[in-house]
Amino acid sequence: MNKDNALVVFSGGQDSTTCLFWAKREFKQVYALSFRYGQKHEKEVDLARAIASKAGVDFSVMDVPFIGRLGHNALTDISLTMDEQIPDGAVCPNTFVPGRNLFFLSIAAVYAREKGISHLVTGVSQTDFSGYPDCRDSFIKSLNVTLNLAMDEQFVIHTPLMWLDKAETWALADELGVFDLVRHETLTCYNGIPGDGCGHCPACKLRREGLEKYLSTKNNK
Ligand code: ZN
Repeated sequence: MNKDNALVVFSGGQDSTTCLFWAKREFKQVYALSFRYGQKHEKEVDLARAIASKAGVDFSVMDVPFIGRLGHNALTDISLTMDEQIPDGAVCPNTFVPGRNLFFLSIAAVYAREKGISHLVTGVSQTDFSGYPDCRDSFIKSLNVTLNLAMDEQFVIHTPLMWLDKAETWALADELGVFDLVRHETLTCYNGIPGDGCGHCPACKLRREGLEKYLSTKNNK
């Protein structure tokens, strides 16, 4: 297995930024791939580019606007109000972008193959998966097999955050020496505000609760 290089599916948010620096620790050379999929806040791509540059990793962007148009969701449709939680009778909140991780990882695998990279890294987490089915471990394992069969390759999809909650993800960022960078320069907020964000959207709530939990356990040590 070639542990020389890895490709990180990179949005510039808390999770994928932590994964980017995790990958830098684990692999000799790291590449980051971002996507313009019709998200309301395209500046996340600019923030991602800035973080990748700071991290000293190769950065590319793929334009895949069809993903936002295909499935009806609140991250790409400005007329929809975001669900704060999973509505009664629904499987997931309307902030779920159907197929997003399937497309992202599939495109990332083709891109990686062209570059001779077999390690893919994604920041999905089953622990805080917000009801998104494509953040679950079973989906990632299934897709890994599918990608290998599809291209006759030996890809390995790494999910360093799969079993971590948000507090543990903050702990990992701290351990990697990028706590302040992740806190102030990443964009997780569904309302497009970097750092601590708007404070009230579901993504901000999850991020803040994890941060408070991490800081309180750290201070009690
Ligand atoms: Zn927010």
